[in-house]
Amino acid sequence: MSAILGSVERPLRVAVVGSGPSGFFAVDALYKATFKFEIDMFDRLPSPFGLVRYGVAPDHQKIKNVIKVYEKDALDQRFAFFGNVNVGQDITIAEMQTFYDAIIFACGAETDKPLGVPGENLTGSHTATEFVGWYNGHPDYQNSSFDLSHPSAVVVGLGNVAMDVARILAKTVDELKTTDITQKALDVLGQSKIKEIHIVGRRGPIQSAFTPAEIKEFHELNHATPVVNPQDLVLNEASQKELTDIHHPVRKKNFEILQKYSAATETTKERKIIFHFLKSPVAVKGNGKVEKIVLEKNVLSGDPEKQSAKGTGTFEELACGNIFRSVGYRGVKIPGVPFEDKKGIFPNQEGRIVDNGKVICGWYTSGWIKRGPSGIIGTNKPDSDETVHHLLTDVPHLKACPSPERESVKQFLAQKNVRFVTYADWKMIDAAEVKRGQPVGKPREKFTSVLEMLSILK
Ligand code: NAP
Repeated sequence: MSAILGSVERPLRVAVVGSGPSGFFAVDALYKATFKFEIDMFDRLPSPFGLVRYGVAPDHQKIKNVIKVYEKDALDQRFAFFGNVNVGQDITIAEMQTFYDAIIFACGAETDKPLGVPGENLTGSHTATEFVGWYNGHPDYQNSSFDLSHPSAVVVGLGNVAMDVARILAKTVDELKTTDITQKALDVLGQSKIKEIHIVGRRGPIQSAFTPAEIKEFHELNHATPVVNPQDLVLNEASQKELTDIHHPVRKKNFEILQKYSAATETTKERKIIFHFLKSPVAVKGNGKVEKIVLEKNVLSGDPEKQSAKGTGTFEELACGNIFRSVGYRGVKIPGVPFEDKKGIFPNQEGRIVDNGKVICGWYTSGWIKRGPSGIIGTNKPDSDETVHHLLTDVPHLKACPSPERESVKQFLAQKNVRFVTYADWKMIDAAEVKRGQPVGKPREKFTSVLEMLSILK
């Protein structure tokens, strides 16, 4: 008779695909279970922590402290890290099913939503994903180049990523040099001639997705000042209702900060961060590279909480050398896993992956690839808890995999010449990065290519 799944004789074998916040929160939730289990976490990069390492802004080091919690989870005997393994390529989903009773896909939203306007791919027009990945040392974006010689740059979008991009553009080298931003990015930003950073939002201040802490930071910059047109703070009736909705106190806080900015008279700082509300990009123009963006003025239409931007037919042009499109992230497919193209997520019912409405036994998802790219790091905790709760409920019905030994996975990868990176390997890379950062007072100087990281392990 075969042993019961989740027993001492036959621990449950769980794979977590993705080592960002939602993956680690899933691990954390599993540790609270009474079942016996082992967790193998996969990441296509040799380095763990996903968005915390490559998405969180380098000048927001405190947010990265959450890594300490993940680290504790990673050092548990039941856990193994398989970095530098691309699930779907190095190991197919069918092969994964040989080794695991359950798989949690927590692979985030790696790409970005398109803006959908002519000219958006001209040289000088970048996605926020590209810029953020580049300055954070993500190996995928190190071939990107940014010519910051034009005095004006445009950031499209009113979310916190747009605020990160605007702030990094506005900061001086002195304000960034003791962060974990890459040296290459620091050198390019140090040469920047940008004087005006225009943040363009299609809806109004009340509908903005940014949060007070993020816009407050603009006031604290050494050489940049935020600029808000008081006219943009004149609200229609529906927006006034949204502003006073007690369920959304953030709106009031945002509005108060913007009011303060609109009344400010600071003129001595050489860089300006200029907010534009109720304007939609309709085209990017230029002869081979970005020269200007065409914006259509909008009005809001609809009931409170449902207001959308409607074009007025009035247009304006803004000369600029760079455009950073920050209009939201989007998940990417993994071969063999159902994908909901419209939303860019893995279709699921509270974390159980479904195919044409039917639950696939043993397949789960958490984080941005489950619900879409919204929320802060902490939002992923209840999200992953929900997924793991369903997984644990399903244990009696899960199909036991035929090769439940961790050693079999290692052998399989070795046979395929996949140089997987263990957590101990990662700690060596980590230590080398920290050492590189020390002489210049940085928390670390990241390795920006997979080869560089692997070379440390030779
Ligand atoms: P987001 O919060 O969803 O914001 C996206 C922005 O893009 C919205 O202002 C949206 O406007 C706009 N947009 C979408 N499509 C557009 C279009 N076609 N034309 C013009 N504008 C368009 O996304 P995000 O900034 O990428 O952030 C993702 C998540 O990460 C958010 O939950 C964010 O709070 C979080 N995050 C947090 C921090 C932090 O805590 N410090 C830092 C970075 C990111 P509409 O509202 O009109 O759709």
